[in-house]
Amino acid sequence: MSEMLIHNIGRIVSGDFHSPVLEGDSIRIRDGLIAEISYGLAADADASVIDANGATVIPGLIDSHVHPVIGDFSPRQKIVDFIASCVHGGVTRMISAGEVHMPGRPTGAIGTKSMAIVGAKAWSSYRPDGMKVQGGGLLLQEGLTEADFEEMATAGVKHLGEVGLGGYHDWDRIAEMVGWAKRCGMTVMMHIGGASIPGSDAIGAEHAIKVQPHIASHLNGGPTAPTLADIERIISETDATLEIIQCGNAVIIPRILDLARKHDAVDRVIIGSDMPSGTGVIPLGMLRTISWVSALGDVPPEQAIAMATGTTAQIYNLPAGRIAPGLEADLVIMDAPIGSAADDALETLQIGDTPGISGVIIDGELRVRASVNTPPARRQLELSS
Ligand SMILES: [Zn+2]
Repeated sequence: MSEMLIHNIGRIVSGDFHSPVLEGDSIRIRDGLIAEISYGLAADADASVIDANGATVIPGLIDSHVHPVIGDFSPRQKIVDFIASCVHGGVTRMISAGEVHMPGRPTGAIGTKSMAIVGAKAWSSYRPDGMKVQGGGLLLQEGLTEADFEEMATAGVKHLGEVGLGGYHDWDRIAEMVGWAKRCGMTVMMHIGGASIPGSDAIGAEHAIKVQPHIASHLNGGPTAPTLADIERIISETDATLEIIQCGNAVIIPRILDLARKHDAVDRVIIGSDMPSGTGVIPLGMLRTISWVSALGDVPPEQAIAMATGTTAQIYNLPAGRIAPGLEADLVIMDAPIGSAADDALETLQIGDTPGISGVIIDGELRVRASVNTPPARRQLELSS
């Protein structure tokens, strides 16, 4: 049995939107799972011990919107190792919004089904620097049958990539296929807003109300935002989870949050990056978006963190995303960066800065010590064992 103890923690952010801060200054991890959260926990003799030095611990970030292909490579921007680089941005898990940049992407019913199965299976056993990628985001195509969805679910396909991508726009058939996907237990996300690339459609409230996806993706545009009227209809006329991303329109974010407040739907908001895309590859995209949501949208930083962790874990049924006994020990240790006007990680987010990461733990293993991508944290961790 392996044990790790993190002690001398300044604040523990839970990842639970409705109860976002935990009491305690230490976290015990056993065999890759969170075992105990309390004050003054003592280490067992053979435990590895991390002294957080008063820094903040949050759940590992879950990026709800990534466009990987196969391997840690982006053909869109000709970049390698971007997924491993995101671990240095505090991201421990990614959800594929569709492997749409796959060179020679197979189309047609057989092609897209094959791609989804390959994506799901390849990513289930390939983890760059420990990153957990839920791949195989199925892109809908003419000719898929209900039996195809059952076969894909059996083969490990857990979700649909963005509905509306992939050049297929028969909305009656799409709504029928989404019904099959839901019956097979798949989570359904849907592109909202302007056309993202040549060959795709502008998609608004009418489409979302017809399809009723689990997640209305990038309400702030990927990259072109829909109208505020469309956003309000999606909030009030669907039950969809509401996604805000990095590679979209930053100015509209506070307006979206105001509408969410008006309809008592702030707890439906999640955060993703939508990279790689034409906008680029942004390893700090999740931290930056949390900061925008908190600083521009007037959301308490611990709740903005929940939007990037626990709320996403809930919609995808993941055994992570919160700091609670029995869940996977994916954790980020972070603090105010050197020179910031803020005194700790939460205040850093609240004023629109990016925190400094001193440690990233995945499945109870310290994968990153002193991020190469964030500014240096004021309080660095110390190791002993
Ligand atoms: Zn999109």
